[in-house]
Amino acid sequence: MGKGFFQVPTAINEPIKSYAPGSSEREAVLEQYKTYFNGNVDVPMYIGSKEVRTGNTKPMSPPHDHKHIVGTYHTADKKNVQAAIDNCLESRNAWANLAWEQRAAIFLKAAELIAGPYRAKINASTMIAQSKNIHQAEIDAACELIDFLRFNVEYMSQIYAEQPDSAEGIWNRVEYRPLEGFVYAITPFNFTAIAGNLPASAAMMGNVVVWKPSDSQIFSAKVIVDIFKEAGLPDGVINVVYGDPVMITNTILASPDFAGIHFTGSTHVFKELWKQIGNNIHTYKTYPKIVGETGGKDFILAHPTANTKQVATAISRGAFEFQGQKCSAASRVYLPKSTSKEILEYVKADIESFNKPGSPEDMSNFITAVIHEGSFDKLVKYINQAKEDENAEIYAGGSFDKSIGYFIEPTVIVTTDPKYTTMETELFGPVVTIYVYDDKDWKETLQLIDGTSEYALTGAVLSNDRYAIEEATKALQNCAGNFYINDKPTGAVVGQQPFGGARASGTNDKAGSAQNLLRWVSPRLIKETFVTPVDYRYPFLG
Ligand code: NAD
Repeated sequence: MGKGFFQVPTAINEPIKSYAPGSSEREAVLEQYKTYFNGNVDVPMYIGSKEVRTGNTKPMSPPHDHKHIVGTYHTADKKNVQAAIDNCLESRNAWANLAWEQRAAIFLKAAELIAGPYRAKINASTMIAQSKNIHQAEIDAACELIDFLRFNVEYMSQIYAEQPDSAEGIWNRVEYRPLEGFVYAITPFNFTAIAGNLPASAAMMGNVVVWKPSDSQIFSAKVIVDIFKEAGLPDGVINVVYGDPVMITNTILASPDFAGIHFTGSTHVFKELWKQIGNNIHTYKTYPKIVGETGGKDFILAHPTANTKQVATAISRGAFEFQGQKCSAASRVYLPKSTSKEILEYVKADIESFNKPGSPEDMSNFITAVIHEGSFDKLVKYINQAKEDENAEIYAGGSFDKSIGYFIEPTVIVTTDPKYTTMETELFGPVVTIYVYDDKDWKETLQLIDGTSEYALTGAVLSNDRYAIEEATKALQNCAGNFYINDKPTGAVVGQQPFGGARASGTNDKAGSAQNLLRWVSPRLIKETFVTPVDYRYPFLG
């Protein structure tokens, strides 16, 4: 700590730019998009001070134009992963002992770099890597990542200020030590902000990190690395490796210095990681912290009193924005019979008003591509299955085409079986399944929602009846870590709606909150006694 109790700048949410026709931000991002699209970047791994190029490369292609190559990245072998661990451990002492305000300054600077000179780059790279339209890129890669960095600095300073009382003659102090070892950050494809936040939040609290981004996000992950470098993050604090997730993970989890995992991705992978950590528990010097945010089967429940246009809009935005590839995306919907026809017609009209799925470079496109062929094929399988099944029908959409990009038309399945496979399984695409309930079965429907899915990430209830809202809020208490009233279940904002789910959806450590940062420290209590006793006898012995 320097010589002062420093106050960090008050965190504010980054305003979302409009990218309206004629705006300077629109021009800048489209120009950057063209440069990246026509370029051929060679992305190294970052291990200590070195840019590591193994020659074992893989191509990177935009999901909306999968035959077009925008660059390559180098993949790790076991030696590279070990070097990343070694570099963490070599850098740990200096980083852990650096005054917190210096760490804060690095990440605050990173936030300002994204807000200014890197904004077009991080957005354009996200449009290309993850096929986000400009609005989706802006709210993720620019605004949410800026918010994570700014708010986490504020939370860090609040954590450090949290101190115990001291009785007369003593002084109790808590220091919030980083974990003894290194943290492993594994990030998903779908949010550039999560990719930046998972390694950064642990590093901000004084930890050293090995970061493994998703293969499908490396093009935008590189921009994050460039930003951290320019912000002055010392070499070796965040070491970045790409490639075979199993080999990388096996190497990392075998290290006695593995001290924590910061994971976001699918439930199955997280459960396997947890098991592997448990199996290796005798190897570790310390009990590793396990933080994981995983899958969801997020619901919308409409009460018969809900405004039908509002419900339809919550579905169209909540289920289809970013092609339904948000962990919070609505994917099962419960509509009352009395208003279902009207709501469904509005949703169909919305879908018909979208352009055909296309490139995000064409800014009139609301829907772009899904992330890769594996995802495309999985979605097609479920859509074709619904076409066959007697208890399901494709109400809207249902077409697909992967000849140029992985394009899936936003699709509405209506089922008569509330436990139909697509009411339960996370598909992670622009497919929503609707179950119509009898108005008189409102209470049973609440129970149905509670018992239908292993997940508990997000959910929404829409109603104009306050008693019904109260009833749903109580009955669905354990169904969602983020619960929305008269809104769609997506779009959590850092500093306002800390995000995370329970049950199979994760450890609910709320990204973008002090709760999450507390997982990356191991507090040490220091008690100092000013006049130390010199006689063991207590008065009662007299
Ligand atoms: P994914 O599980 O396929 O991959 C996530 C990360 O894990 C990637 O870096 C991947 O390379 C790595 N990985 C894959 N197999 C692994 C293995 N065997 N060992 C170690 N690492 C492995 O997920 P995805 O497709 O990138 O992302 C979509 C999933 O993430 C969805 O299930 C979604 O719900 C979830 N998600 C959850 C949240 C949340 O906050 N709850 C946020 C975003 C995404």
